[in-house]
Amino acid sequence: MTENNILRVTNPATGESIEEIPTTTRDELNAVAERAKRGFEEWRGFAGLDRAGVFHGISRSLLDHQAELAEIMTHEGGKPYIENHDEVEWVASCFDYYGEIARDSVGYLPAPIEPQQLAMVIKEPIGTVACIVPWNYPLLLAAWKVAPALAAGNAVILKPSEETPLATRRMAELIEDLPDGLLQVVYGAGDVGDALVRHPGVDMVAFTGSQETGRKVGVTAAERLMRANLELGGKDPFIICDDVDVEIAAQGAVWAACLNAGQVCTSSERFYVEKGIASDFIEASREFVESLNIGDPMEEATDIGPMINGPGRDKVERHVGEAVEKGAKLVAGGERWGERGFYYRPTVLTGVTPSMTVMRDETFGPVVPIVEVDSLDEAIEQANSVPFGLGANVYTRDFEKMLRCMRGIRAGTVWINDPLTDNDAAPFGGHGGSGIGRELGREGLEAFQESKHVHIDPQVEKKEWWYPYGG
Ligand code: NAD
Repeated sequence: MTENNILRVTNPATGESIEEIPTTTRDELNAVAERAKRGFEEWRGFAGLDRAGVFHGISRSLLDHQAELAEIMTHEGGKPYIENHDEVEWVASCFDYYGEIARDSVGYLPAPIEPQQLAMVIKEPIGTVACIVPWNYPLLLAAWKVAPALAAGNAVILKPSEETPLATRRMAELIEDLPDGLLQVVYGAGDVGDALVRHPGVDMVAFTGSQETGRKVGVTAAERLMRANLELGGKDPFIICDDVDVEIAAQGAVWAACLNAGQVCTSSERFYVEKGIASDFIEASREFVESLNIGDPMEEATDIGPMINGPGRDKVERHVGEAVEKGAKLVAGGERWGERGFYYRPTVLTGVTPSMTVMRDETFGPVVPIVEVDSLDEAIEQANSVPFGLGANVYTRDFEKMLRCMRGIRAGTVWINDPLTDNDAAPFGGHGGSGIGRELGREGLEAFQESKHVHIDPQVEKKEWWYPYGG
């Protein structure tokens, strides 16, 4: 929450305020942009090997403080400690990956026009990149931008979410050996984010967040003719074929829906189950959901922590409430949990229809809406029926069905039998309304590079196609 230029950070497990920090002012932002320029110039003087050395140092330093960072993230964001502990490892791995991959991605040699010529494509940095991130994976989503942007030679101004600035602040303190100003953090809500995107000292924006905000950021970037990478929301489908072990599929499905209380951009939010196993799958999902531990996210035994805030939980309540009103059946959950904090019980719904909000808009909560389908073709058609295309999951042992899903589903990632596993070396991003551009992999580095074509002819001679045309 922002009030009088102060960010009030709240623990979602208790609703209590943890810390207040001042937001970045306009004058401070100007100074940050100036320092970023100087940091950018100094960074040019680092060879690829030296940059890789710095990145591996960052990775080690973050792992040395893994428990501390995980604890801060748990207090400010409510994600279970065990998930935050993993998050720090993924952040470290991202820095290691880009430290190395940037060393062999400086450009390439296309075939020249004439044999004596040399054609080169040189990959250059863009300048100062604004990285704006949400609260659900504060360090990971920052790393997916900061590591490739710096590896490509850019300076970075990072704005964490107003909900979760504290772990980012600590991470920035732990990142050493970069030139002064190369990586700076600014604090605030949407107004600070907007000022950053409009700032003349910023040359590119890399944004992760909701579709609604992403559209605003995209419009501002377009007005400035500035590159924008947009990683937005999703409404991921999950198809369960009738040839699988129902218990395993139900556990994978519930985990994919309820991880981080359903607040993952690639949370599975729509489940299409082949008719033959539908009733067994519903029963297995109910049993598994009811066995999960809800509680203090710092406790090791806690599976489900709180949601981020009141408005986030209200939205889930609205989606579930509307579905039930329109005839959906509540199989499990469907209510708040506990005396304090923003908890919501994992919920299983059946009898949902495509027109219900819970099957159309991003719910971003621990909800498993299940639809029985007559065929795989129907499941794929339903999977493609919303204007999002971030991720999709499939459970099947049948290779022919895997291929049909792989080819038929419109999504940036299709996971088969291993829900939600990301890979630093493979691109991540959305089709359609889920975004523009990619993070991770080589594409994730190229997102932060400009291409310069250099054409050299060592022979200084008149070309026959110049004037005069008449001979
Ligand atoms: P949000 O869009 O409300 O905020 C995201 C960030 O943008 C925050 O830092 C916020 O302060 C900033 N912001 C708000 N208004 C702005 C403006 N006008 N200009 C510039 N910046 C502005 O999103 P959220 O609630 O923090 O996060 C949840 C959303 O993020 C969900 O929709 C989720 O799907 C999405 N998400 C997407 C990915 C992905 O990789 N595609 C990953 C995680 C989360």
